[in-house]
Amino acid sequence: MPNLNEGKERPLDEEHYAALRLVKLLQQQQFSQELERLTAGRLVHERLRLRQLNPFVDERGLIRSRRPAQSQAVDWETRHPILLPPLHQLVRDLVREKHRKLGHAGKTNTRNHLAQYYHILGPRQQQSVRPAHHLCRH
Ligand SMILES: [Zn+2]
Repeated sequence: MPNLNEGKERPLDEEHYAALRLVKLLQQQQFSQELERLTAGRLVHERLRLRQLNPFVDERGLIRSRRPAQSQAVDWETRHPILLPPLHQLVRDLVREKHRKLGHAGKTNTRNHLAQYYHILGPRQQQSVRPAHHLCRH
């Protein structure tokens, strides 16, 4: 039976929509060259090593990665995670917020949930890294 969600996102709730707007601004700021090149249909600059992530710009203007074929069974959004720069305050906020929403979940749990939507680049900008877990005061 075909997956009806194939090729499209789930409808967004307001909160998710707000998060995507912030993420979009962050990408515009941090990945301005890549955004320009991808939109123009050119390959991403070698220096930034994003190419192996198969980046593309979605219809909202967000840069996403294509995960390898073995992740076919999951949602479109999980197969096409939004690329995020490392070590940015907004990324730290996303991690912290997810941690709280999950009832102060541990690192692995928080990381796995975030990985459903985001691919956070490592310092060498090619691999996903573990987002640093920022302890909050319970
Ligand atoms: Zn906590």
